[in-house]
Amino acid sequence: MRPFDYTRAKSAAAATRQAASGGTFIAGGTNLLDLMKLEVMAPDALIDINRLDLNHIEETDDGGLRIGALVTNSDLANDMRVRRDWPVLSRALLAGASGQLRNKATTGGNLLQRTRCLYFYDRAMACNKREPGSGCAAREGVNRILAILGTSEHCIATHPSDMAVAMRALGAEVETLKEDETTRRLTLDELYLLPGDRPDRETVLEAGELITAVVLPPPVDGRQTYRKVRDRASYAFALVSVAGIVAMEDGRITKADLAFGGLAPKPWRDAQVEGVLIGEAPSEALFNKAADLLLAEAQGFGDNDFKLPLARRTLVSVLTELTQEARI
Ligand code: SF4
Repeated sequence: MRPFDYTRAKSAAAATRQAASGGTFIAGGTNLLDLMKLEVMAPDALIDINRLDLNHIEETDDGGLRIGALVTNSDLANDMRVRRDWPVLSRALLAGASGQLRNKATTGGNLLQRTRCLYFYDRAMACNKREPGSGCAAREGVNRILAILGTSEHCIATHPSDMAVAMRALGAEVETLKEDETTRRLTLDELYLLPGDRPDRETVLEAGELITAVVLPPPVDGRQTYRKVRDRASYAFALVSVAGIVAMEDGRITKADLAFGGLAPKPWRDAQVEGVLIGEAPSEALFNKAADLLLAEAQGFGDNDFKLPLARRTLVSVLTELTQEARI
């Protein structure tokens, strides 16, 4: 690990100013410290934001929830309001990492964790995300955990978060504070960038811009679940995951909010997949039609070809589960 300066931020505004002049925020550090030990990231200065007043979960005027960026994954997963009204989020959080990591990892940090592509962590290998223009060893290499949607010729990495997948399905928005003390709100679709020809740029956040909170919309009708398919029963990243919120009325689907993990460089949502389900009676044929749309432009790279049939089966299974009561 290379030497670095360390500063404890006294306020969010001060933290953004320090970060804008070249520092890197640290909160739980559960991903950043690994990256620093491997010298994949080598910030000159760390700005510790752990003592900022961003660790509360508050109800919003419209019945939603504002989650401070420093709320830990454990506290968020176990919050009674989240467990009762946004269970897909609680389940996604509890499917991620381990108990020890969830006790340290924060909401903001979880959103900004880096890909687990093996080549990104190995400085001897070509990686456009780590070193722009060096190539992508994963395309022809070991790519079992990597993406089949939203990729580019420059990068096929996946976003590793479970939490972000549930938040995408819920329509959550991220609140940020910029160096000039202005704030903005971004949907998760707006926050994350696809790799294109700049896989080193992962979000639209500007230098020094700090995620201060995530806002959940009010609870919605319907059944919710988070299904994660992985190599081990715990402490493993998703090969495929589906966050689903489905509502039914008179035997027909009236809501189908679906987000996918393990498939793309960002939590994936596809309006066509949801649109084909609305107004229809549930059936395996319908669910397969939704999977056809989801996978219409999917591309495997060898080791990860299995994700195409796995994504189909997982989607069909989740939709079957979420509509089952109404079909009996
Ligand atoms: Fe790097 Fe992306 Fe290629 Fe992995 S997939 S080696 S992160 S450029």
